Amino acid sequence: MAVETTHRICSFCEATCGLELEVDREARKLVSVRGNKDDVLSQGYLCPKAVALKDLDEDPDRLRQPLVRRGGNLEPATWDEAFAEIKKRIRPILEEHGGGSVGIYVGNPTAHKPSLSLAHGALVRSLGTSHMYSASTLDQMPRHVAAGLMYGSWTSVPVPDIDRTDLIVVVGGNPMASNGSMWTVPNFRGRHRALKERGGRMVVIDPKRTQSAKAADTHLAIRPGTDVFFFFSILATLFDEDLVQPRHLESYLINVDLLRSAVAGYLPEETAEATGLEPEAVRALARDLSRTERAVLYARIGTSVAEYGSTANWAVDVINALCGNLDHEGGVMWPRAAAFQFNSAPGREVNGGEGKGVRSGRRKSRVRGAPEVMGEFPAVCLAEEIETPGEGQIRALFTTAGNPALSAPNGQRLARALDSLDFMVSTDIYLNETTRHADVILPGQSPLEDFHFPIPFMAMSVRNVARFSPAVFDLEEGRPAEWQIMYQLALIISGQDETTSTQDYDDMVISNQVNAALKTHPTLEGFTPEDILAQLEPRRGPERQVDLGVRTGPYGDFFGARPDGLSLGKLLENPQGIDFGALEPRLPGVLSTPGGKIDLMPQAIAEDLPRVKAGLARTRVEVGAGARLLMIGRRNTRTNNSWMHNLPTLAKGKFKGALEISPADAKARGLASGDIARVENKSGSVEVEVDVTDDMSPGTVSLPHGFGHVMSDTNMTIAARNPGVNSNLLASDQAVDPLSGTAILNAIPVEVSAI
Ligand code: SF4
Repeated sequence: MAVETTHRICSFCEATCGLELEVDREARKLVSVRGNKDDVLSQGYLCPKAVALKDLDEDPDRLRQPLVRRGGNLEPATWDEAFAEIKKRIRPILEEHGGGSVGIYVGNPTAHKPSLSLAHGALVRSLGTSHMYSASTLDQMPRHVAAGLMYGSWTSVPVPDIDRTDLIVVVGGNPMASNGSMWTVPNFRGRHRALKERGGRMVVIDPKRTQSAKAADTHLAIRPGTDVFFFFSILATLFDEDLVQPRHLESYLINVDLLRSAVAGYLPEETAEATGLEPEAVRALARDLSRTERAVLYARIGTSVAEYGSTANWAVDVINALCGNLDHEGGVMWPRAAAFQFNSAPGREVNGGEGKGVRSGRRKSRVRGAPEVMGEFPAVCLAEEIETPGEGQIRALFTTAGNPALSAPNGQRLARALDSLDFMVSTDIYLNETTRHADVILPGQSPLEDFHFPIPFMAMSVRNVARFSPAVFDLEEGRPAEWQIMYQLALIISGQDETTSTQDYDDMVISNQVNAALKTHPTLEGFTPEDILAQLEPRRGPERQVDLGVRTGPYGDFFGARPDGLSLGKLLENPQGIDFGALEPRLPGVLSTPGGKIDLMPQAIAEDLPRVKAGLARTRVEVGAGARLLMIGRRNTRTNNSWMHNLPTLAKGKFKGALEISPADAKARGLASGDIARVENKSGSVEVEVDVTDDMSPGTVSLPHGFGHVMSDTNMTIAARNPGVNSNLLASDQAVDPLSGTAILNAIPVEVSAI
């Protein structure tokens, strides 16, 4: 056995830890996984999930051959047969109804597969459909909306500079378990330890006493779904106690007075009944956020998948701005990614932050009229767009690395809708609860069979770093990579598959990108497309796009015009990554807003304020009417996606899908740990094992998402042994945050009873 050591960025979550792998390439075996102590970002840290890379790579359930539905059953087929079936079935649909009759759903793993994410646009462009759906509207879209409204770009998300802060306030997030979300912060535990050692503090606001809450100096148990009232109370206190001190942001902020009057009625004394938080504790927090030299407020999924998700996320950024903690060392700051980040493109600094801002609602969904945001419609609209006849009805669907049957509300309705499609193609690594409805399944790659260059996560990283990992193993002979699958689908859809190869298509893509780069970057003056294409040789596919992106990015070598600059070759010579230093202030260049200003009262938020006001009144009434249980989700270190439930290393140990309930609520219902309870509401009903824990505050229960592996026609053997229940059967597909279209998956009223 010839074992060699190689380095690899972990692609299991946003933390993107650097790993040291021992591999036997001849036997195609991953032998061991360790943290890479020399990695510039994670410095040796890894969590238990990383070890499961081996499980995933070797999983016998992982698809390696296409499946095609014949006589009602999904049967193994060759790649040629699978693509021929797609051509035979999709072409008549396109000819009769056009590309607008085809939907696309993209799952979260696509963000962790740069090769797939760079090539997926080819499929989208070939269809020209507006029926775009993704897991973003089941997760983080409100964060994008806040960034768009404030800074003029959906993806300009500032992140906590935890390594230099003195106070971090975490709301609705559990970074001790997640190592950051919409924030790439490997080894949060170690960074928190360092914070403590330099005399800093962490405050956690969460209905549950999470790992983060246990580690915090202060934990405030807020009532689920009331984060927006809490944030408004912080804002009201900042004005009430004259704590507004935006420091260097003063000249950027507009409409401060409109904001002041909008939040005036939300002093902590006004919201305490709804939030369950002591007014003095909220006032003290506002003072601390304003007076601590380096402080930061961070909110995550609990705030996002909620009734007022976008307005709450906007309020978080406004608080950081009014306390002078935006674009400030130890506050929230914008990373400068090495490539593919709108706000880091060379030359942006010169325009003083002037830009057009963002626009949403350019199109409305056909059935319920939901506005498009970031080019997509809410995932909760997918079922009705398939079911409802008429012009623009979805008749065929492509899913890529997604499992909406489990991750979207009302999965049973979506499952029925998927069965009614004329045709469905899934690109995925498993036969799961969603892909079981497909007519053709095209197997995706093991992460080790592809390179890794964590595109979105460099733009949310706690330091400015650039890292690249080449593929560890080759794909089997004759098996297309995911990027080639996307290009082949695009060619079939556009009717060019007989005249154009995926290699030709790839050459066309890179030529277009090179021409665009020549137009955009004055530094490339004097270069011809041929000069640049020659320098990109012999790379192909998305790897070639990464080289172009890096070389024309903020640290790039511009093909020799900046000889010390960055290239993919240089990244390959530095497998530990290259550190470009701590985050730096980036105003005004990071902005793309009218006048280069930050509007503290955007129109969309102003229009949402009456809803927030009514919500506060309604919550007070509900609280006054007596106890009802509100359901929240949770994060476990050993899982964050449904496919992880099939990996033995992560599945072992205590069952992770139980309903957590407080001792008081359990006692009132005659429940003990290990009992089975019925959880129900008007959306649905599930029966699930109970875990009684005083981590839960009375009135709140927790059920994690991604479980419910009960379908006999899936093939996830390990997951099926301990299937759990689908928490999203209790979520309504009618309830969304209207600004972002994000499903409300948090603070869901439920009844719990013993069976
Ligand atoms: S924290 Fe995330 S990136 Fe780091 S080792 Fe665990 S799964 Fe991988």
